[in-house]
Amino acid sequence: MRKKILIAAGLAVPVLAFAVVAAVSSTAANTSVAACTTAAVAVNSNGNGSMSETVLAYQPMVSQYCQKFKIPDYADLALAVMQQESGGTGNDPMQCSECPLNTKYPNSINGITDPAYSVETGVAYLANCIKAADCKSPSDIPGISLALQGYNFGGGFIGWAQERGGYSAENASLFSQISASAHGWPSYGDPMYVNHVMRYYIVPMEGQFMVPLKSYTISRGWGMDGAEFHKGIDFAASAGTNICAAAAGTVTYARFGSAPYGGYGNVVVIKHNETYSTLYGHCSVLLVTAGQSVQQGQVIALVGSTGKSTGNHCHFEIRVHGNQVNPAQYLKVA
Ligand SMILES: [Zn+2]
Repeated sequence: MRKKILIAAGLAVPVLAFAVVAAVSSTAANTSVAACTTAAVAVNSNGNGSMSETVLAYQPMVSQYCQKFKIPDYADLALAVMQQESGGTGNDPMQCSECPLNTKYPNSINGITDPAYSVETGVAYLANCIKAADCKSPSDIPGISLALQGYNFGGGFIGWAQERGGYSAENASLFSQISASAHGWPSYGDPMYVNHVMRYYIVPMEGQFMVPLKSYTISRGWGMDGAEFHKGIDFAASAGTNICAAAAGTVTYARFGSAPYGGYGNVVVIKHNETYSTLYGHCSVLLVTAGQSVQQGQVIALVGSTGKSTGNHCHFEIRVHGNQVNPAQYLKVA
């Protein structure tokens, strides 16, 4: 494929000194365009939202460049970008050969042949996008979303979206359509880029999880139990004991569980951010409804033994991108 750099004059943003859109221009049917990102190379190594070993091996280098470009708290985000771009493979793991910041190698796909230069260039560009998007913290989802889509579309997107209320999936789709037709291309960038990267990004919790019961006995911990892997902690307590939200969030499920929550009896699920959720199973009574916001420590249900249960307890789970993790890593449980 042949590539060339185009100046997107109408999209120029003063915040970014390099409001240049590196574009793929070819006769190929499925042309893809990006600033720091080339053709959508979605490498989903394991399908469960975690990063591959090849990406994790870049952690020290990515952290070093995040320090250099003054985004020390965004190393995990940069790694998530790498996971989406290349899965950590090849000599241009950040896929930023076409990035305007690449001044050393050819501005063509895989033009960069030095992985360290790729990481340096990609992180520098990500840092510019984070600043232009006025991103407040690693858990500022609107800011991160705007920065990520800017990373994919080119810096011009950020100012354009800011004039329209910020990042939204609709804005990303519209920008992609406008840019594609302006250039006469069949497509422009990856309008789903934010979702694609966020699969790999663990949004830090603001604050910590608390144990959902005030007094309890742990009747079953995390791990193998007979032939079954128990993916939570069982807090045994008498029927009617208060169950509290482990952290603030929004209730996404509160009823007698059916797939994918079959067996949990009366169950509450709370979404805390784009990454974390918690689940409270086998309740006797539910005191919240789906869609409701809850505060940390708020009583959400009462202990019971509904569903697949042999005694009064609260089966508690913490999930990352929907997958159970050991709650003991997050809780101070006696
Ligand atoms: Zn359990």
